[in-house]
Amino acid sequence: MEAVVRVKRSQRVRYAIVAGLITAVPYEFFFGGAQADKWHTYVVPGDQLLSRLPLAIIVGACFGLITFKVLLRSKREYWVCTKCEATKYADGVVECSCGGRFENLDEVKFIPENLLTK
Ligand SMILES: [Zn+2]
Repeated sequence: MEAVVRVKRSQRVRYAIVAGLITAVPYEFFFGGAQADKWHTYVVPGDQLLSRLPLAIIVGACFGLITFKVLLRSKREYWVCTKCEATKYADGVVECSCGGRFENLDEVKFIPENLLTK
């Protein structure tokens, strides 16, 4: 259980960093609407990149932090393999090592084996 929790935490950190980068990188290199009108371009000129960098980092860090908090609050979903019945937290990987498929535990109905065989 401990290992699963730790994996989830590093996953959240990773998502938060990615979310921060997705915000900071366009902010660093592209102007928004009003600024684009002022400078008549959407691409930030090279000599302004350095002066925008601190704000880009702050904006990215804020967005990353928000993402981290949202992920922290999001409800944990359990997945179950429909073939071998292994369970795990939802992590986006639907293939099970047994060759089966993971499905949301809430959406899976278990049918006794003897009803499946005709
Ligand atoms: Zn399986």
